[in-house]
Amino acid sequence: MDGKKGTVRERWLQRAEVAYRRMFDGKSQEELVTLTQREDLAVSIGKELAGFLLEEHVAMDPVAQPEEAATTCCPKCGQPGTPAVEKREALPERVVTTRVGDICVRRQRWCCAKCRIFFFPLDVRLGLGTEGYSPTLLSKAVRQASKAASFVEASDDLRELADVEISPTHLQRLSERIGEEWAEVRDEEVEKFRKRELERTYKEAPRGAAAVMLDGGRLQTRAEDGGRGVSDGSWRESKVACCLTLQTKVHDVDPEPEPPSKFLEPTEAARLASEIKRRSRPVPRRNDEDRKEAKSPKGKKKRKKPAKGRRRRKRNRTQVRTVVATMENSENFGWQVAAEVHRRGLDRAKRKACVCDGQAYNWSIYEMHLLPAGFVAILDFVHLLAYLYDAAHALHGSDAALGWKTYEQWLRWAWSGEVGKLLSSLRAAAAKLAKKGSAAAARKQTVEETLTYVTNNRQRMNYPEYRRLGLPISSAPVESTIKQINRRVKGSEKFWLESGAEAILQLRAAQLSQDDRWTRYWSRRRKHRRAVGSGRLAQAL
Ligand SMILES: [Zn+2]
Repeated sequence: MDGKKGTVRERWLQRAEVAYRRMFDGKSQEELVTLTQREDLAVSIGKELAGFLLEEHVAMDPVAQPEEAATTCCPKCGQPGTPAVEKREALPERVVTTRVGDICVRRQRWCCAKCRIFFFPLDVRLGLGTEGYSPTLLSKAVRQASKAASFVEASDDLRELADVEISPTHLQRLSERIGEEWAEVRDEEVEKFRKRELERTYKEAPRGAAAVMLDGGRLQTRAEDGGRGVSDGSWRESKVACCLTLQTKVHDVDPEPEPPSKFLEPTEAARLASEIKRRSRPVPRRNDEDRKEAKSPKGKKKRKKPAKGRRRRKRNRTQVRTVVATMENSENFGWQVAAEVHRRGLDRAKRKACVCDGQAYNWSIYEMHLLPAGFVAILDFVHLLAYLYDAAHALHGSDAALGWKTYEQWLRWAWSGEVGKLLSSLRAAAAKLAKKGSAAAARKQTVEETLTYVTNNRQRMNYPEYRRLGLPISSAPVESTIKQINRRVKGSEKFWLESGAEAILQLRAAQLSQDDRWTRYWSRRRKHRRAVGSGRLAQAL
């Protein structure tokens, strides 16, 4: 071993000497003028040296060629395997792309007679998958692929920022594979939860309050067997949950009996109402919506908000947000949320709420999984605001001033939990429009929709009490999460296969979670998989 190390050391010193001369002697000196030229050469020399160190260090690993006596177990079944390369034969090689370029890994191949697979103990020890990239590089590639606007852009970013060349198609394949693995792990956890075997991550119950917020996003899918082109493109709903811990206190009385000024300011109220409406239907234009939303509130707030803003910002401060996102049906989604709530111990918080926009399936999930744990159901106040705004203006038709007056009254009643007054006023409004006959049919329908909405949700509108308990009354966190997810998955030119969408949602959700799960997921040992494709990928039987 010492002799071998000695040669490595000698070769290292030789290389370092050559590197030194490349940088300081010889004819290249005239070309090393600008900092860019010098930087490029220094970095490329550095990478070559680092590649050498990495390759040699891996080659010295005892597991590269385990002793006969060592028991080397199959990664699939755990039973001892047998070496599959004769002593005199050269060890099988594979090329792995790392942050410092390609390195060659030589290691003994073993086989498991039972599983009928070849496996490489060193690969398992190094944490290598079958992809041909080092885990760090793979994580960077997948991170960018699930963050950039498209795989084409991500491929571009990686070339520019990380000096790595991965085609958009391959990037997509890699991301989908990792996302699918994470979805599998999630399903296993849900299965454990259903058997009451899922462990909690934290020993103690969360301090402060906990909240679960449910909502849906949108994306377009195409037929699974439709080949490369788009066939059967259709808008589908993604389901998203935010699980939050909040640093809030219980008060003796409602700490905020007056509605916030933004709800009583005409342009701001109109903007909130139309934003809710726009979100509930597919938007054909690219990302105009996001851009507008990102810009407008800032400019307005500056003009509108005097010194009072500080107090409001202190309220309902989020401690940790984690995200669950899926394309699956609401029943499976419900179990996924319940497992996450259990894992984080949110059910053990003293004060807890479920805030939703009023969609029926969200309340079914609430009743099945959250109500039994003592969560309080709360109707998202901003959705309610949008309904009231529309109904008030429908009631008065073209008279915007009267429409505003009615809205203001209804909003105040809603804010102070006076649901009875609100309902009778809405009923009177519907009756008034009914008298006008067919001319006001559309307006009457708008008022009736609001009436139904308030009637269905009347048990979830005790806002003064929720505020007193320090519970959130708006589902804004899940809505902003959906915006961030949509930025990746939604767009008129983006069509996903159902499985691809599910995979990318897992990656995005992990990134948006604040409990470090991205790192945790990557450090988890990956399941043994058969290699796909050819070339540099590992061999399988
Ligand atoms: Zn086996």
